[in-house]
Amino acid sequence: NLKNTEDKYENGNSSPDKNKSKDNETKESIRVGFFQLFRFASCSETCLMVFGGLSAMVHGAAQPCMLLVFGLMIDTFILYDIELQELRNPNRTCINNTIMWINGSFDAENETMSCGMLDIESEMTRFAGYYAGIGCAVLFLGYMQICFWVTAAARQIQRIRKLYFRKVMRMEIGWFDCTSVGELNTRMSDDINKINDAIADQVGIFIQRFTTFLFGFLLGFVNGWKLTLVIIAVSPLIGIGAAFMALAVARLTGRELLAYAKAGAVADEVLSGIRTVAAFGGELKEVDRYDKNLVYAQRWGIRKGVIMGFFTGYLWFIIFLCYALAFWYGSKLVLEEEEYSPGNLLQVFFGVLVGALSLGQASPCLQAFASGRGAATNIFETIDKEPMIDCMSEEGYKLDKVKGEIEFHNINFNYPSRPEVKILDRLSMIIKSGETTAFVGPSGAGKSTTIQLIQRFYDPPEGMVTLDGHDIRSLNIQWLRSLIGIVEQEPVLFATTIAENIRFGKDSATMEEIITATKEANAYNFIMELPQQFDTLVGEGGGQMSGGQKQRIAIARALVRNPRILLLDMATSALDNESEATVQEALDK
Ligand code: ADP
Ligand code: MG
Repeated sequence: NLKNTEDKYENGNSSPDKNKSKDNETKESIRVGFFQLFRFASCSETCLMVFGGLSAMVHGAAQPCMLLVFGLMIDTFILYDIELQELRNPNRTCINNTIMWINGSFDAENETMSCGMLDIESEMTRFAGYYAGIGCAVLFLGYMQICFWVTAAARQIQRIRKLYFRKVMRMEIGWFDCTSVGELNTRMSDDINKINDAIADQVGIFIQRFTTFLFGFLLGFVNGWKLTLVIIAVSPLIGIGAAFMALAVARLTGRELLAYAKAGAVADEVLSGIRTVAAFGGELKEVDRYDKNLVYAQRWGIRKGVIMGFFTGYLWFIIFLCYALAFWYGSKLVLEEEEYSPGNLLQVFFGVLVGALSLGQASPCLQAFASGRGAATNIFETIDKEPMIDCMSEEGYKLDKVKGEIEFHNINFNYPSRPEVKILDRLSMIIKSGETTAFVGPSGAGKSTTIQLIQRFYDPPEGMVTLDGHDIRSLNIQWLRSLIGIVEQEPVLFATTIAENIRFGKDSATMEEIITATKEANAYNFIMELPQQFDTLVGEGGGQMSGGQKQRIAIARALVRNPRILLLDMATSALDNESEATVQEALDK
């Protein structure tokens, strides 16, 4: 019974999930062309890649070249052997480079039979020289091919990382409401690595293999088009298989990535709230939640494995069938129709063989390209996205003088992550300059929201906020925020020393200013009692400070900027009455 209800529960759950995933399917599909992966390449990197590509091409042609030499060598051997056979007959001799009967009679059949031109030893030395030459060339070509591509990719990836993080920092706060921070983390590490795999050495290797394939088949065509044609006639079977595989892999990799990013987000959230999780005994539940996401990833991974496995087997099956066909028909051509010399036949055989093999080996590169494009879709879209509120914009007025009168005009507001819930309904108010204004209301009334609107974290859909009569949307945003000192409801400290945390309020703060600010915030005494005083590390997120200590450090951080507008969101909620009174006094001053 229990299992049944569980199943039902799962089934009930899965149908909306499916709808969602259908939506996602269009969203998560690849929208980055292969060449768009290189859009951040500079001139010098493009040059590196072009030279790397050329090296890869020549490198790829090396093996068919080797086969060419090989075929010639075989024919030379056979010619020499025939000559030896002929001259073993005591009645024949070599006159004027032609084989004649000693008694002078003429043999029409052997009229063109030449002899005496072959110095087999020097011929073989010549071939050895060719091989060695190809070897030396490959030494440099291989180096350039891999080194250039990897170098260029390393530089591009660094640029992509920079741009991505920079753009994420520029996004408006509403965007962060709608995006999981843990997912961003995973994207930064995994997805960018996937892009790297798609634009680095794999490209060089792909070009090399593809050139080998082209030249191998070319060799086949030139030396024996009939046989090559027969083999190629079945090659669409290979092409279709490879295409299906690349397509399926790209799709499934996207799904897999998504699932892993979700699992990563869960881990991130849980680890940062570990105390709460432990307090409520939620460890097992969180393990389950994490596992569940892994199971999704695994499911997609296994599907990918099944499809890739099937198509790999299929591809090689077809390739070996090609060999069978080639050998059967090829020997027919040599024996019955005498069209090919044995050297030619070997060239054709091995040319097509090596070409087909290389094509098979090139297909894993296609997978890397597809995963890279899948990973790039989201990253590039973020990079291209224009923030609605651009905190790095140079635009907007900077007022010469700020009185500090803030006015709300008929503001309607809802959070972008929850558009259907109206938070502020036609809010109008005036905060006069030089006054202390308090918002009073029950929890969830919208006090913190109002404060965030003053900081312009969000733009209200209707109405406007003005500072001294200027719409804050027309003001320079960095400048506006530089006027404001804020202590949030849950102040966030960064994992560094107390002094550094306070200096985040004002980069150029001297030690005296910091000490004054801490005295005003009633934090000086407790800081001096710590063993390392201002150099005490506050721990990750300020985790090694008490709530009240955190608040007082945050107040000092706000005060050290000596702001024109001071926003306190229940800034003294964690303080005892006595400390609160002291802080309040300082704030009033
Ligand atoms: P308070 O007056 O207690 O400070 P808030 O301004 O924080 O209240 O919240 C007002 C309402 O807005 C609450 O109902 C809350 O659920 C909602 N809210 C707050 N922050 C967000 C957010 N980032 N996204 C969506 N809704 C939010
Ligand atoms: Mg609040």
